[in-house]
Amino acid sequence: MDKGLSSFISRLPLKPKPLINKQEITPGVFVLRFERSHDFLPGQVVGITTDKAIPARLYSLCSGTEDNYLEVLFNVKEDGILTPILAQLNVGDPVSVSKPFGAFLGDDEPAWWIAAGTGVAPYRAMLRSGLGSNKMLIHGGRTADSFYFSEELSASLGDKYIRCCSQEKNEAFYNGRLTNWLREQNEIPKNQNYYLCGSAEMVVEVRDILINKGVAIERIMSEIYF
Ligand SMILES: Cc1cc2nc3c(=O)[nH]c(=O)nc-3n(C[C@H](O)[C@H](O)[C@H](O)COP(=O)(O)OP(=O)(O)OC[C@H]3O[C@@H](n4cnc5c(N)ncnc54)[C@H](O)[C@@H]3O)c2cc1C
Repeated sequence: MDKGLSSFISRLPLKPKPLINKQEITPGVFVLRFERSHDFLPGQVVGITTDKAIPARLYSLCSGTEDNYLEVLFNVKEDGILTPILAQLNVGDPVSVSKPFGAFLGDDEPAWWIAAGTGVAPYRAMLRSGLGSNKMLIHGGRTADSFYFSEELSASLGDKYIRCCSQEKNEAFYNGRLTNWLREQNEIPKNQNYYLCGSAEMVVEVRDILINKGVAIERIMSEIYF
């Protein structure tokens, strides 16, 4: 993790909250639910850890502002420090959680939401907070089970929900990487915002594609996960 970010995170005040639900939604991918004690804006993140000795990691809230709990989505990094521990938690275990913060915020304006992997989390928060109209979600994943929350997202967004699957063929998906899907679009709207969420590699590649297609840089909002 970048030193500047880790030093910021190490100063975040954390409060213990009991875990009220843990669901493994697909192998190695979990949704954790906590009691809600703060308001937040859809798109914001919280810092989470289980132990004073382990610096908090950041997670986008994936629950909506009308939900009376907070939820985060994460995938286990086998060689990571915190996520293997989070995956072993039991309901009732205390977890240290910060106040929500961050500036990757959804609004009512038309936009494309672009995500890879767990980067779909903030868009689920935005959708559950009533910001789904005028939005298109383009989600990239390797396998068919990478499209977390797909039933919910599909029910709300219909044909404005594009799943780009790079390693499994299925007629419900675009077969290929989301960057290829974007490159193949001849005309993309210029007068709207683009939200990008996921790995640094994906964000940089998508940003370049959008700029090459004539999107102004001011229209591109990014949240980089690692
Ligand atoms: C703003 C923001 C929001 C985020 N939101 C989410 C989210 O909603 N869901 C989600 O799943 N994740 C999210 N993340 C990522 C998350 O914060 C953690 O980085 C992730 O869960 C891994 O944590 P870990 O402790 O298991 O792994 P870590 O121990 O932090 O390691 C992560 C990976 O980096 C590698 N690594 C560790 N140290 C080094 C090093 N010194 N050099 C090279 N490689 C190294 C490890 O091998 C591992 O593969 C977000 C990150 C940011 C910055």
